[in-house]
Amino acid sequence: LGERVRPSDGRDELGRLGATLNDMLDRIDRAFVATRRFTGDAAHELKTPVASIRAEAEVALISRRPADEYEATLRSIVEEADRLARLSERLLLLSREDLGAFAELPRQPVRLDELVRATAADAAELARRAGVELRVEALPASFVEADPVLLRQVFENLIENAVKYTPSSGAVTVRGRAQGDGAVVEVIDTGIGIPAEALPRIFDRFYRVDPSRSRRTGGTGLGLSIARALAERHGGSIEADSRPGAGSTFRVVLPALRTGGPA
Ligand code: ADP
Repeated sequence: LGERVRPSDGRDELGRLGATLNDMLDRIDRAFVATRRFTGDAAHELKTPVASIRAEAEVALISRRPADEYEATLRSIVEEADRLARLSERLLLLSREDLGAFAELPRQPVRLDELVRATAADAAELARRAGVELRVEALPASFVEADPVLLRQVFENLIENAVKYTPSSGAVTVRGRAQGDGAVVEVIDTGIGIPAEALPRIFDRFYRVDPSRSRRTGGTGLGLSIARALAERHGGSIEADSRPGAGSTFRVVLPALRTGGPA
């Protein structure tokens, strides 16, 4: 974007000043590009639910209909508004990531096993309605240094996806173990799986293996990109294995605080 200072010799005082200035300009450029990308992403994703809320409300206003049809319309508007709220929440999380503000968030020792268990418990109703068995297996006690709300978002996204992409009578298993200096949590499903060629892209923003299916299931293509960004900001990582038709495994690795928890 911007012009750069061209120092003739990087070793003298003026050269060092030039290099510092260039570094600052690079950082401003990156922030600018990230902000522009975020604004574009946000506008793109918010447009559709807003348009459909408006269309449904407008039709209801101009036509006389039986009470039960009004009720159905209102219910659908509420669902769309809920989706919009979830989406805004996620976009906000992403914007915090983009602007690098995450580094300033206070972190505290968090019991990883308790956090994962609570997240799974919250998804129980979703799983029940989908006819998917959700079980939590061994989760050894471990502490991580985290923002509990944001770390929870990682597991919420993975568990919701596992349920969403698993047909009824399938199963989702959550389990953990210690690994080296850290902890591993796996979310394993017996769902539709992910084709090998799509696997490297599922963590990209707005990427969906099957957009029409994802639209029906209320997908945004943002969940995994947020989950990965948040895991990385906690010093961890996420990877996925999958066999189409057999299921997927998402593995989160986080550095443990220290054995036995905070002193
Ligand atoms: P979405 O809101 O579409 O679920 P995500 O970023 O969470 O967006 O996931 C991106 C895509 O990865 C999904 O659209 C889906 O195609 C695929 N995916 C994610 N999790 C799973 C899973 N557990 N099983 C099968 N496919 C999955």
